[in-house]
Amino acid sequence: MILRAHTVVTMDGSPIEDGAVRVRGQRIIEVGKFSDLAGTDEIEDLGEHILLPGLINAHCHLDYTCLRGKIPPPQSFANWVRAINAEKTKLSAEDYVASINQGFAEAKQFGTTSIANLTAFPELIAHVQDPIQTWWFAELIDVRQRVENTTALSSQASKRNEIVNRALVNLKNTSRIGLAPHAPFTASANLYRCCAEIAERDKFLLTTHLAESRQEMQMFRDAKGPLYEFLREIGRDMSDCGGTTPLQAFLRTVQPRRDSSVRAPRGGGSEPADGPSESPGAMPPWLAAHLNELTESDFDLIAKIPRKISIVHCPRSHAYFGHTDFQFDRLRELGFNICIGTDSLASNDDLSLFAEMRKFYDRFHFEPQKVLEMVTINPARALKQCDQLGKIRRNFLADMIALPFTDPADIFETILNFVGQVPWIMLHGKIDL
Ligand SMILES: [Zn+2]
Repeated sequence: MILRAHTVVTMDGSPIEDGAVRVRGQRIIEVGKFSDLAGTDEIEDLGEHILLPGLINAHCHLDYTCLRGKIPPPQSFANWVRAINAEKTKLSAEDYVASINQGFAEAKQFGTTSIANLTAFPELIAHVQDPIQTWWFAELIDVRQRVENTTALSSQASKRNEIVNRALVNLKNTSRIGLAPHAPFTASANLYRCCAEIAERDKFLLTTHLAESRQEMQMFRDAKGPLYEFLREIGRDMSDCGGTTPLQAFLRTVQPRRDSSVRAPRGGGSEPADGPSESPGAMPPWLAAHLNELTESDFDLIAKIPRKISIVHCPRSHAYFGHTDFQFDRLRELGFNICIGTDSLASNDDLSLFAEMRKFYDRFHFEPQKVLEMVTINPARALKQCDQLGKIRRNFLADMIALPFTDPADIFETILNFVGQVPWIMLHGKIDL
């Protein structure tokens, strides 16, 4: 089949006017000017449309699609955690399955053809038919499993393994597997290490929430505040708090231990520690969501990470919470691969990556083409799919969308300004009707 469109935005060079894409099976086999693509293939002429790669959502929780509009913007992050926990007690397994299915349908309508989806319920995956390419990340939390004394450490370790293994049993029938220890305030250092070891061994992806809220910073830096108190009350071991930062707590747990001086300072100093004195060692390529709360010492530290992690920014969820400004320019200059995600509908209005791109553009005035890379090329790299996704290119998967061609002035601005349901989608070489 040959697809013809007014303009083909390949994300692999300049847009092609009167462009065409030859698709065979699930893959793209040729891209160029329509006049240059010879042959007898059936022609699907999209007319006055822009053909572009399907979008990739780098951070989402479809479990909570049904919580849209249920939780007003909170006074504090700890209050939001309490509120979502209260909402979750009202939901059954059937509700979650319906919520995930509804989320998939909505994401697809908005032109998302691949998604990094965190689920707190890997056991429900078997009951869901994912209509778009999905990386299922099992979201893991062990905050309530306090160990009272050191003699229980071995049983603690086996419990962490048990949590991960149980999730893996439920993920075994999916081909795109990831592990997501939730955040340094809800997942123990041992759980992080266990996930990192298994991911390294079995080549799974890793994601986590990191340095999202002021209260998370307050908890790790000052050993106090609403999030600190909330977690202490539910039984979290708080001895890792005080004199550190969320990023330092994370790096301390996931980096190979080369420096014995890298330990959590105890006892509530008001200033963050300087962090490890040595350059951090190699670490798996984490996909870290948020990274809003970074101190100067954090910036010094991440500048030395030799194998850069990817970062997901969720513009509208960020605005909902009123988080500290995202340090986009500094992180980009440091060479981080920065992606855009929607987060869940417990803190967002819908699953449109176009709306996320517009929100991002309004705040940072970054080139529209580069913003589009944050939902195509960049997440493809984060998901280790550089040779498959994010571009219209020979041998790539034929996951594409088409949008009306309305404004000849700037094709990328036209794309960012698209509102509504995407009129045409191709998934793995099949036109989705
Ligand atoms: Zn999230």
